[in-house]
Amino acid sequence: RAVRTHRRRVLLKLSGEVFGGGKIGVDPDVVAAVAREVAPTTEDVEVSIVVGGGNFFRGAELSQRGMDRTRADYMGMLGTVMNCLALQDFLEQTGVDTRVQTAIPMSQVAESYIPRRAMRHMEKNRVVIFGAGAGLPYFSTDTVAAQRALEVHADEVLIAKNGVDGVYTADPKVDPQAEKISEISYQDALQRGLKVVDATAFSLCMDNKLPMHVFGMEGEGNLRKAIIGEKIGTVVH
Ligand code: UDP
Repeated sequence: RAVRTHRRRVLLKLSGEVFGGGKIGVDPDVVAAVAREVAPTTEDVEVSIVVGGGNFFRGAELSQRGMDRTRADYMGMLGTVMNCLALQDFLEQTGVDTRVQTAIPMSQVAESYIPRRAMRHMEKNRVVIFGAGAGLPYFSTDTVAAQRALEVHADEVLIAKNGVDGVYTADPKVDPQAEKISEISYQDALQRGLKVVDATAFSLCMDNKLPMHVFGMEGEGNLRKAIIGEKIGTVVH
């Protein structure tokens, strides 16, 4: 019989940018470093991960260059699966058990997305890596992160960012006056048009009272700290 554990459970969103180290494709050194930070947390925290695919394809960008949007979005979703496999490989090299579950069935490569099975894996200390987004064109992996977090009953959704370490009053790359916010409500973030995470993801979390922690990947130990529950970026609730 399944016993619901009362350990902390998180859903971590890693964007494709993380995997590419700023380039197209997968940089094994970067993925290995991510795996090394995640691995020790899995003793105490149940970890699931939604993986982006922007290091391969973004549907919206391909469609601006003449491709059919939905076909381009499927390319985007398939890209996320390659990132999942890379992360799976490096996590398993550290000795952590993992399962990849994809929203589009591809049985030789991964399990299909089965939420109850995903939760069971987490209870058994396996890291579950979700790929292929929602399996639906016109969605982003940020939105999928919010949805999966809700469906697997995560306590918090963790959004790891590159190049920015939280939510700011304005875009810090453009406005030198921009200040980091340590805590904000979804309502305020939406009203003020703060765009670190897409609005669909924000509103899904708001409607279902799921807290979010937006933090920067840069800095030794940041990923580990966020997973174990240290507040290093911005809490949105
Ligand atoms: N995508 C999609 N449906 C989903 C998730 C992703 O169509 O449910 C496609 C979309 O084209 C997106 C691409 O996959 O641009 C890669 O995902 P995303 O841009 O969210 O990745 P990230 O920016 O996090 O690297």
